[in-house]
Amino acid sequence: MKKIYEINNLPSPCWLLEESKLRKNMEIFERIQSESGAKILLALKGYALWKSFDIIRPTLYGCCASGLHEAKLAHEEFGKEVHTYSPAFKDSDIKEVAEISHHLVFNTPNQFHKFARPALEINPSISLGLRVNPEYSQVTTEMYNPCGTYSRLGTTKANFDDSIMQLCDGLHFHALCEQDSSALEGVLKNFEDKFGELVPKLKWINFGGGHHITRVDYNVDKLIGLIKDFKSRHNGIEVYLEPGEAVGWQTGALHATVLDIVHNGIDIAILDTSAEAHMPDTILMPYRSDVRNSGLPNEKKYTYRLGGNTCLAGDTMGDYSFDEPLKIGDKIIFEDQMHYTIVKATTFNGIPLPSIAIQRMDGSINIVKEFGYSEFKNRLS
Ligand SMILES: *Cc1c(COP(=O)(O)O)cnc(C)c1O
Repeated sequence: MKKIYEINNLPSPCWLLEESKLRKNMEIFERIQSESGAKILLALKGYALWKSFDIIRPTLYGCCASGLHEAKLAHEEFGKEVHTYSPAFKDSDIKEVAEISHHLVFNTPNQFHKFARPALEINPSISLGLRVNPEYSQVTTEMYNPCGTYSRLGTTKANFDDSIMQLCDGLHFHALCEQDSSALEGVLKNFEDKFGELVPKLKWINFGGGHHITRVDYNVDKLIGLIKDFKSRHNGIEVYLEPGEAVGWQTGALHATVLDIVHNGIDIAILDTSAEAHMPDTILMPYRSDVRNSGLPNEKKYTYRLGGNTCLAGDTMGDYSFDEPLKIGDKIIFEDQMHYTIVKATTFNGIPLPSIAIQRMDGSINIVKEFGYSEFKNRLS
């Protein structure tokens, strides 16, 4: 008999995508597209749970890929438009990339000159573009600032080379990270100050990702206004956005289990998941994930440090308080773990990857992927 899964008998650890929440995000994208005329792509770098693409495909125009493998995934599993940008393409990849891409965006005039004609020979209908660096952003974490000091991402005005314009259909910038439309306004102004005179010669402008569109307090009306204004000032030019995080934002949790509790000055719960391997941005950014039914340290009666099941000393998620003492076997649910987690997870220390499940509109849960020893072994040799 087929096993019926519910929240409390999921395999552990497990990412559980909630279809209803992903559909809610799609409604916001739908509105932006219909009211502003922009086309929105899914950035696979942040969210690539392809078993959920059926939910996204009716709304978004395609995917943006960061190289051959993401382009192939977009082509095979999403369909629609494939926009590929890479900080640097390799000779060995360009043929396959050009065959399946609709837009191909280069990082430098150097790469543009090297690959533009070969790409057009392989795919005469491909639309070529250049990523520029507007040299302005409001991102304060350098790790996530594409316009930071010495950034390698995008061509600065000083390095721009007019001779690409003969074959260039569009410009691309990406200068946001988890930001509101007011940050886009600043970036757009700097982009137009530096590159605005080129826009009349182009077919499209790609405003990149980092728009935190689906966050409750994001100013969607302002985004729509900025796009409409840009389009009206530039003869209706095509505008693309390519959010990743905003697609998967608040669409599901990582469900884990307490394996043991140790005491060393404080109480520490060891879980069957890992900050380092399964939610690496909590360490890299760093940020504190919300845990369902928990509070800040000492806010509730029982405080624990939550730790991962690897031998890395720093593999901890932070300190959380609960109404009841934690027991072995208790579930710990990390909220909002669908973006920049599944795509970044590793088998570090041999720790198994979490299963992936989707809760459908009727509440039923499908386990869409389970991992085992082979994922660990096969990427080694
Ligand atoms: C990372 C990235 C995106 C997506 O960014 P989000 O912050 O996930 O929205 C889009 N375009 C480019 C070029 C990127 O590097």
